[in-house]
Amino acid sequence: MGEGRPAAPRPGAPAWPSHSTEAGTAALAGDLSFSMVEARQLWSFLDGAIMDVHVRHQLWRTWGLCPRHAWGYAIAEIEVRGGRPFSTAILYEDLVGRAAGLAGSRALPWRLALARLRTRGVCFTCDYVALARSHTDTGLGDVLARMNDRRRTTVLLAASRREWRARACPECLAGEGPVCRPHLLAGVRPPGGRRRLAGALWDLRRRLHVLVRSMTWRGPVAGAAEEASWVEALAWFGGWRFLRLAARADVET
Ligand SMILES: [Zn+2]
Ligand SMILES: [Zn+2]
Repeated sequence: MGEGRPAAPRPGAPAWPSHSTEAGTAALAGDLSFSMVEARQLWSFLDGAIMDVHVRHQLWRTWGLCPRHAWGYAIAEIEVRGGRPFSTAILYEDLVGRAAGLAGSRALPWRLALARLRTRGVCFTCDYVALARSHTDTGLGDVLARMNDRRRTTVLLAASRREWRARACPECLAGEGPVCRPHLLAGVRPPGGRRRLAGALWDLRRRLHVLVRSMTWRGPVAGAAEEASWVEALAWFGGWRFLRLAARADVET
């Protein structure tokens, strides 16, 4: 608290550069080790900031965090908050539903639907990292170590692999799932057209909904397809190569 950190933006701070972060994530894909500054911002989200209404509005504009930090958030939650991606699944149920609505909209030409699927704004965590001074002691050393160890995440990803691997993006990993958002934005046409894409996304949203409820009191038991849903959601928004890093496995075979 108040260690002299410069005016790093609080979640919800109004300044949002208009440039997209999609192209800027490629350089980060080589390594999924997180820094203390990243852990600190992601931890503030886990502490409840991600539920803030203003934050949620910004997350709609940016379709969540950038791929690296979307995984960082999920990993932090799984490793430190009980081994389950609860708020991750809540966020992605929301985002996938919004994307499905755009993909299936009869009123919206495909070109405009694609334009709305672009990221409009900068990732919260990237923004924070760019402005934060190198970290002071945050007391989050254990959180960071567990995030970078990823023991629980690795187990979860391995347990649901059969499900998510089959529904991977055909362009990323030759799977049979919907074309991921980065490939759609790059001009790849969804096989079967946008209605089939929308159908796949609505199905994903339904599975996320069951997964969220399964983590609540007296909720249903999630099956294998539901357990894989959060993985598919992160990979659909950010591309599947980040999953390979997170899983520490060769998911191309
Ligand atoms: Zn980011
Ligand atoms: Zn793809």
